[in-house]
Amino acid sequence: MSAAALKRVVVVGNGIAGLTAAHTLRDAGFDGELTVVGDEVHPAYSRPALSKALLLDGDDLSSHTLPPASHGASELLGVRATGLDLDRRLVTLDDGTALPYEGIVLATGSRARRLSELPDEITLRGLDDALALRRRLARRPSVLVVGGGPLGMELASGCLAAGCRVTLVSQGEPLTAQLGPHLARVLTTAARERGLTVVETGPARVEGRAGDARVALDDGTVLRAEVLLSAVGDVPNTDWLTGTGLVVNGAVPVDERGLAAPGVVAVGDLAALPTPHGVRRIPLWSSAVDQARTAARALLHGTDAPPLTFQPYFWTEQFGRTLKAVGRLPAAGEPVYADGEPGGGPALMAWRQEDGSTTAVALDHRIPVPRLRSMTREPA
Ligand SMILES: Cc1cc2nc3c(=O)[nH]c(=O)nc-3n(C[C@H](O)[C@H](O)[C@H](O)COP(=O)(O)OP(=O)(O)OC[C@H]3O[C@@H](n4cnc5c(N)ncnc54)[C@H](O)[C@@H]3O)c2cc1C
Repeated sequence: MSAAALKRVVVVGNGIAGLTAAHTLRDAGFDGELTVVGDEVHPAYSRPALSKALLLDGDDLSSHTLPPASHGASELLGVRATGLDLDRRLVTLDDGTALPYEGIVLATGSRARRLSELPDEITLRGLDDALALRRRLARRPSVLVVGGGPLGMELASGCLAAGCRVTLVSQGEPLTAQLGPHLARVLTTAARERGLTVVETGPARVEGRAGDARVALDDGTVLRAEVLLSAVGDVPNTDWLTGTGLVVNGAVPVDERGLAAPGVVAVGDLAALPTPHGVRRIPLWSSAVDQARTAARALLHGTDAPPLTFQPYFWTEQFGRTLKAVGRLPAAGEPVYADGEPGGGPALMAWRQEDGSTTAVALDHRIPVPRLRSMTREPA
């Protein structure tokens, strides 16, 4: 089917990838019938804010809000897609209806991976999870966080700021696998100075029964707390695509324009895209935005649309420190400091990576992101 024949487009998933795809379709001239299906009842919001400002900002519950959608689509919120028939070009919904389409955007993101089915194990993926956690933190419970990645550390930071006693269980030194040893050291030092107890272990297990869950470490130690939070990765939401042949190794592989099949694009945390380091998911906010912008145009214009040119951008806020990074992470070895100095306050630094690329990082520094990006094009 040619792009000109697209009269009906359905976007499944109302996160940042679905929202951006819908806006881009309109910006690129699509004036046909546009429907957005999202299983959360809330309008699209900023997911990264949930583990940052939303946990910290007292009574201000606005940090996660995004400007209202301007795509003029029919929005079916609180409705879940349950199946996809590629031959008949139909999406089935949990309200018993089915939506026909000529083009479809798969943008159902991912959910938190769990270590158990116990209700005591709390994860944070959505707005409702974050609001429920805020309510529990108000009573200042003791907290055990399992997972030493950026999300686990942000949650630990938020819980400490709420006045809780917090222990973080990490497989190896926190953040090292994601950021590299230098940046990990900066942030874990800040964490320890603020009172975080870090327990390094091999793989930890969540055991016990409902109402009495515990975390078992590889050396036999058992830890308990009033609140048990896990942050151990995410799992793409592909259940509704069962039987379509679109899912490989738990994600939807796409080409460099986001195309998964004729008339079908996949974007955001759900999609595995070609990168210089293989086909993989890049479950980050700016990646979802860039993928969605590219794929929406490809849905309309096929191979005449430009392919994705993606430069990773990541940020985190924790333990009073803010880090922004452009380029590949983890960053191995020691950086060159362009501003500031090791162990000090605000700093700008860069790494020349093994693959020849440069990673530029701002710590507590007000440098605008485009300027940080330009550092990756200058010799480190
Ligand atoms: C707490 C938290 C903090 C984060 N912090 C950062 C950060 O600091 N920096 C960063 O770069 N990234 C961060 N991320 C990751 C970033 O938020 C994601 O990469 C981004 O939100 C992915 O967008 P998405 O639209 O692909 O998926 P999602 O945001 O997951 O949106 C998908 C939507 O589809 C819905 N859906 C699922 N299944 C169905 C269905 N069958 N039918 C209809 N709707 C469905 C989901 O409920 C959801 O609303 C964070 C993530 C979390 C959870």
